Amino acid sequence: MTFNDPEFGEVIVRHNAWVRGYKISVATSGHLTITVPPGIGAFLAKRFINSAREDIRDKLDIKDPATQRARDAQKKLLAKKARDYLPYRLEFWAQKFGYKYSGVRLSHANTRWGSRSSSGTISLNIGLMKVPEPLRDYVILHELAHINHMDHSAEFWQEVGSHDPNYKRHRAQLKQFSPGV
Ligand SMILES: [Zn+2]
Repeated sequence: MTFNDPEFGEVIVRHNAWVRGYKISVATSGHLTITVPPGIGAFLAKRFINSAREDIRDKLDIKDPATQRARDAQKKLLAKKARDYLPYRLEFWAQKFGYKYSGVRLSHANTRWGSRSSSGTISLNIGLMKVPEPLRDYVILHELAHINHMDHSAEFWQEVGSHDPNYKRHRAQLKQFSPGV
């Protein structure tokens, strides 16, 4: 049995004789599932859901709609700032130090500030717009240095250090920030 919830979408109702009251879980399909004792129908299941909305949001890690909207707006703004800045900053450093790259991509990854693909495209995280400029530049110089060194060898770090003498400090400071928006 299923019913439609205005917030959580299709909710699956399961029956289990061993459940006391009700139990909320998430099916592998992603659907919210409520398990109730036999004989409890959709009407009561809906009542349970209504009484436990807050807990269910926590459980599903759903932010309340206003928070989600604020976050979306922030992300949009950051993406716009990033578009207007990062490709030009990358080009500035590339020209200054004579690097050639094939393209730039702006990413929204939660774990990486930047990366360089084997095809020569440099990805920069829009979250860089939240960190101080010297740290942002460090990430750009780090990715540019990967054009000559695919690894993090001593030669790689030497090249980064020749462009950013404070790279060790910048690298450590960057750990205080999270790339996720
Ligand atoms: Zn690297």
